[in-house]
Amino acid sequence: MLVSVVKHEGGTKQQARDFLLTASAIGGLIKHLSSISGAEVGCQGEAGSAASMAASGLCAVRDGAPQQIEHAAEMALEHHPGMTCDPVHGLVQVPCIERNGFGAIKAYAATSLAIPGTGKEMSVKFKETSLGGLAVTITEC
Ligand code: SF4
Repeated sequence: MLVSVVKHEGGTKQQARDFLLTASAIGGLIKHLSSISGAEVGCQGEAGSAASMAASGLCAVRDGAPQQIEHAAEMALEHHPGMTCDPVHGLVQVPCIERNGFGAIKAYAATSLAIPGTGKEMSVKFKETSLGGLAVTITEC
């Protein structure tokens, strides 16, 4: 997430610092109150914590207030409790790669939802009107 901010969004060094400090604070809270270890709490401890940290850092870079940062971190984490840690053959590849990839997507979405105005822009075409999306997509059978 931080690489994306710096490489693709023109993030500054100060924003990178803000991202890392905020993410570290959230990671510290999770570690203090729960765990960041898959061996202790399952995948929420690793993929979940990472998603939560990424969401908080991204929200900070986007000038989110502390409450919004907290909200983003919580939303990114809340999809992970109960996820087992059971990598295939004990290798940290499957399902880890996919889970962390989706964790990044969740972090991005959580930040978008936490900052007002960024999650309420759905076009009327996509609200049971059959005016957009799949409703107007012609498929060849
Ligand atoms: S499933 Fe993979 S990513 Fe999740 S806690 Fe286990 S080793 Fe870590």
